[in-house]
Amino acid sequence: MMYQMYRPGYIEVISGCMFAGKTEELIRRIKTLEFAKKNVLVFKPAIDNRYSNTKVVSHAGSSVESIVVPDARSILDFVKDDTDVVAIDEIQFFDEDVLLVCDYLARKGLRVMAAGLDTDFRAEPFGVMPRLITDAEFVTKLTAVCMKCGAPATRTQRLVNGKPAQYSDPIIMVGAAEAYEARCRHCHEVIGKPTIED
Ligand code: ZN
Repeated sequence: MMYQMYRPGYIEVISGCMFAGKTEELIRRIKTLEFAKKNVLVFKPAIDNRYSNTKVVSHAGSSVESIVVPDARSILDFVKDDTDVVAIDEIQFFDEDVLLVCDYLARKGLRVMAAGLDTDFRAEPFGVMPRLITDAEFVTKLTAVCMKCGAPATRTQRLVNGKPAQYSDPIIMVGAAEAYEARCRHCHEVIGKPTIED
């Protein structure tokens, strides 16, 4: 009888809103792989320079070394023949090429792990995330706790000067004086967002 060896290489995504522990979960998976002496490369997009330029840091304070890259294709410059795993944090900020990069690496036999916001502050799909989730073998959707009512939170509330943001605001506000909260469906507020009742 003939046996076909199955081929390694797949994509797993950790998605959810802010304060759901996505980065913490990504770091946990990275650390278990490092205990097993796997060669793990960790990347994040250049746009996210909060906390540290050379580390991926969770809100809970754990961290791993990472490589900051200006665009998705640059990830390929660092991948070597002995790389087992490529982990990407804040993947929603990458350009569309990241979909091709992840697929290429997975087909090459690498385990690709990506964490990112599935929705923007308007609770609409964030950048490449819908297509990445569709392409991935494994998807983990984490929830936070609504900071208003305590229900499971799946949405990121943007507050500008303490007030809910406008639907027409830019998706990415770098360095702006805005704040974010985890909110449930019922407590999430976006001024001017279209609904069926309009
Ligand atoms: Zn709520």
